Amino acid sequence: MRFSEYFLPTLRDVPKEAEIVSHRYMLRAGLVQQTSAGIYAWLPMGYKVLRKIEQIVREEQDKSGAQEVLMPTIQSADLWKKSGRYDDYGQEMLRIQDRHEREMLFGPTNEEMITEIFATHVKSYRDLPKNLYHIQWKFRDEIRPRFGVMRGREFLMKDAYSFDLTKEDAKYAYQKMFLAYLRTYKRMGLKAIPMAADTGPIGGDLSHEFIILADTGESEVFAHKDWLEKDITGQGIQYSDREGLNAYYEELTSIYAATDDKHDPSAIDASNLVTARGIEVGHIFYFGTKYSEPMNARVQDSNGDMVTVHMGSYGVGVSRLIGAIIEASHDSEGIIWPEEVAPFKIGLINLKVDDAGCREACEKIYADCQEQGIEVLYDDRDERAGTKFKDMDLIGLPWQMTIGPKGLEKGVAEVKNRKTGEKSEVSIEAAMTKLAA
Ligand code: ATP
Ligand code: MG
Repeated sequence: MRFSEYFLPTLRDVPKEAEIVSHRYMLRAGLVQQTSAGIYAWLPMGYKVLRKIEQIVREEQDKSGAQEVLMPTIQSADLWKKSGRYDDYGQEMLRIQDRHEREMLFGPTNEEMITEIFATHVKSYRDLPKNLYHIQWKFRDEIRPRFGVMRGREFLMKDAYSFDLTKEDAKYAYQKMFLAYLRTYKRMGLKAIPMAADTGPIGGDLSHEFIILADTGESEVFAHKDWLEKDITGQGIQYSDREGLNAYYEELTSIYAATDDKHDPSAIDASNLVTARGIEVGHIFYFGTKYSEPMNARVQDSNGDMVTVHMGSYGVGVSRLIGAIIEASHDSEGIIWPEEVAPFKIGLINLKVDDAGCREACEKIYADCQEQGIEVLYDDRDERAGTKFKDMDLIGLPWQMTIGPKGLEKGVAEVKNRKTGEKSEVSIEAAMTKLAA
């Protein structure tokens, strides 16, 4: 992409309404634009990152055996009356009336709808287990939308729903998701600690929140100091290895970590305890038959008896993750994108666009990158070098490659690693080889 053609409305000034760094940088780097309180339009670069995050979530869900569906954003109130949640959900639910005065709503979550879909089609234990997920916009009329996309009213969520014959099997489904989550966050360069959590209005008795430690987090959390060093990717564990997975799950969950509601000071020695703030980027629940019972999701077991299925639900805050990643990875100059979610891998800076040599060299690099499938943002604008460097640091691409007349005389480009700040002068070929890796 050429910077001169890109719709990338960067801002010089810090927007007043933005209280935390991720929100400031998201606005300044032109990733999103607020259209109403807690509702955002995604501009090209922000949308590119959002899609990458979404894709990582999708790939890890698929690997765990979950199957993607897509349910609508608008739901009928009847479904929610059946489960008894229509009244309970309260003012966070955006209620709508269609032209026939039928009660509809903009879905805040999908337990009811997926259970209805499941119950329509699945009648036998032979069709279990099933885990169905979708990645869809949700609406919750939050009392205090704030911190940009971190607490929006409209936000993108991945929500998965598991269906099993027994509680034991449901626990296995839960543990698979647990592992998928660890891997998902790790791929985004994040460390999300699974913490024992309250089940809240969704109900049930087994739940973990996945929390990234950050001073600007909304939750107060409590964890054993061992978490700080612990590698939690579950390397080598296979989803099909039920015992291995269970052992790994037991190992991790035996290390103390709890959200505010679940914290029990008597359960951990004070000298080992870390109290911190955290951002919730995912939440998983096992809730038994809470929805399958009222929604009539039953299957026939091997004896021919009708059994109510056991369920779990598993959410990832896809749009919140962009904010969380920036909170975890930035400096005073701007965002530092982890490579896996970066909108482009390289920012190519032409220091002197009116110099034929610079132009030619940059055009060649730009074309080579495109041929090799390397994502590059080429700053071909007629702007001062200082402005270009500032913008490039702000938008935080992992690598910067700078071409100027002096370097060209020696046949070199300057390559900068955005994260470490390390710069080196290398031949253009060497730079290309390094960055293609
Ligand atoms: P919170 O306590 O932050 O309100 P929640 O318990 O209501 O979260 P869930 O219903 O478990 O959230 O939703 C799954 C995930 O969706 C959360 O872990 C979070 O990452 C994300 N999420 C929830 N509410 C919002 C919101 N208003 N804006 C952006 N993401 C959200
Ligand atoms: Mg909430």
